[in-house]
Amino acid sequence: MEMMNYNAGTGTCKNWIVEERAFDTRYLGKCEAIFCQGNGYIGQRAALEERYVGETRDLLVTGTFNKFDENEVTELPNLPDLTNLSLTVNGLRFSMDTGKLHGYSRRLNLKNGELTREVDWESPAGDRLKLVFRRFVSLADEHLLGIRADITPMNRNVTVKVESGIDGRMTNTGSQHFHEGAKRLYDNRILQMCSQTTQSGVWCCLHTVNSFLIDGSAVDLPLLPIIDRRYLSNRAEAAVEPGHTLTVEKISCVHTSRDMAYDGCADDAAARIRQDGMAAIRAAYPRGYEALAAESFGAWEKLWKEIDIQIGTEKGYDQLAIRFALYHLNIMVKKDDSRVGIGAKALSGEGYKGHSFWDTEIFILPYFTLTQPETARTLLEYRYKNLYGARLKARENGYEGAMYPWESAWIDDGEVTPLWGAADVVTGLPMKILTGMIEQHISSDIAFAVWQYYTATGDQDFLDRCGYEIVIDTARFWASRVEWNEDKQAYVIHDVIGPDEYKEHVNNNAYTNYMAQYNMGLALHMMDTLEQSKNEVWQRLQEKLDFAGSRAKIQKAAQKIFLPQPNEDGIVAQFEGYFDLAHIDLTKYKESSVVGTIYNDYNIEQISGFQVAKQSDLVMLLFLRDDLFERGIKRKNYEYYEARTLHDSSLSKSTH
Ligand code: BGC
Repeated sequence: MEMMNYNAGTGTCKNWIVEERAFDTRYLGKCEAIFCQGNGYIGQRAALEERYVGETRDLLVTGTFNKFDENEVTELPNLPDLTNLSLTVNGLRFSMDTGKLHGYSRRLNLKNGELTREVDWESPAGDRLKLVFRRFVSLADEHLLGIRADITPMNRNVTVKVESGIDGRMTNTGSQHFHEGAKRLYDNRILQMCSQTTQSGVWCCLHTVNSFLIDGSAVDLPLLPIIDRRYLSNRAEAAVEPGHTLTVEKISCVHTSRDMAYDGCADDAAARIRQDGMAAIRAAYPRGYEALAAESFGAWEKLWKEIDIQIGTEKGYDQLAIRFALYHLNIMVKKDDSRVGIGAKALSGEGYKGHSFWDTEIFILPYFTLTQPETARTLLEYRYKNLYGARLKARENGYEGAMYPWESAWIDDGEVTPLWGAADVVTGLPMKILTGMIEQHISSDIAFAVWQYYTATGDQDFLDRCGYEIVIDTARFWASRVEWNEDKQAYVIHDVIGPDEYKEHVNNNAYTNYMAQYNMGLALHMMDTLEQSKNEVWQRLQEKLDFAGSRAKIQKAAQKIFLPQPNEDGIVAQFEGYFDLAHIDLTKYKESSVVGTIYNDYNIEQISGFQVAKQSDLVMLLFLRDDLFERGIKRKNYEYYEARTLHDSSLSKSTH
């Protein structure tokens, strides 16, 4: 049986449901990520309530970056887990990899954001149960999340033991970002855990309440409190007869001192989030799962009225796919907070550490620019706030202007790309990650996005406050970055990584050079516009950005930058010397079901010597700078480079 079913929705839910219909512990990660729930503030990865080997339980909150130690880079810490709910049935632990699984279906309803799991399970002792788990991360109240489990024995009386709490024994693949903190039980039922990140000092305060019902009516089960190292929970027990249902409701609230509400309250943030969290949980839990979930569903309904895209297609899958994309786009961004960007894995997991890359401006932002411009503006304001780090990076590298970090985290962190990566099969050492030093096109990608946003929205106020400064200062960086080459009688850019990260230390990467030229051309146009108006923006910027000194420099560089042209076959070299690289048979890698398998055979230095690309590079340029070449040339380049591209970045296929 196919594991995924894209045709599960019927009636009003047609083309709204993504279903996982088989449980296989080898593939836990896939649905943990694609069933991720969130609201831009919280990202709750969809690990199951009971634990499995190979799972990754993640609760991430935007902006809470912490650096575990000096030799690591800052990352979004994995907060204490709120989704754990362990069930014991007549003394045997409920786990789908013991006993018999007679039925399994997990469904993400994109329409209301709810995740549901239905299980028909027979314990090793022959007790048969129907279990239904549901959960939401509220879109109506960003601090709130809820879980509900309905447990119905089918053939015998059972005693169900429930343990559910706040589990601070979480790490990011081994790095524990929190001090032990304070744990406490209030009113014998409100669990509270407040802990602080070890380096950045961010306070996170979590509250949880477990409530119980039998056949829909509340029952006051005695709750045994458990407090352990980095852990606190309740234990309860109930006898349930066949055909009757025990329900557990777990309602939780998350507050952190990075929340916008506490910006600038360093002294009393800890006390305030504790108080506000307590007030929030007291107000929420008595209302119960259904009422709280309904509020969130209502917020989704309202949102879908604005964002749904209906495709006139017979293929339900296409309609579902675009809604799936819209769902994730809308839960990955904190639409009103310009202190945070979007992580490359959004808030769905620890990959890429919550850092923002060019992914935001080139792949995500166009959607917001064209449909929710206020959100696009918020995201670009994040880059404006990051000018501090961009200027720092330029200075540290001996350049002028603003050189954006390849990876960004908190607004004043500057460059946060890690230095070491996966194994080098030749040397046995970790590979050195050079992107933070020499993958530089992100500066022009951001400038490109600023202009795209402005041309789509006409938002002059944004340009005045932030846009001019971003574009002109990145252009100043490029003008100081280029070097004069006597032979070519042109300015060249040596030693970079282009979008294709399977090539390091290349000269005159076409993407980088053309986009730098675009960035500089845009800056000149902006300086001219400002010069003509001589208004207060001009006043503010001309000195700050040294119009007098930098304009001539930018102009010379823009005019004389080396721009590779199509050869006699119409192909533009991805970088200098590309055509001399060796060919290898790529069939094996192209056919592989997982990405990056070329690294099993070669290290990056060897791969740099082959005509093989990780992802679209020249094709990306042709896509963004549609005006550069005529159609025939574009087609030829597309075909030439696609044959050499492994699409080992998920950014690649969408571009092609
Ligand atoms: C890709 C980059 C991308 C990064 C984050 C890398 O694997 O090559 O283009 O920015 O992942 O998604």
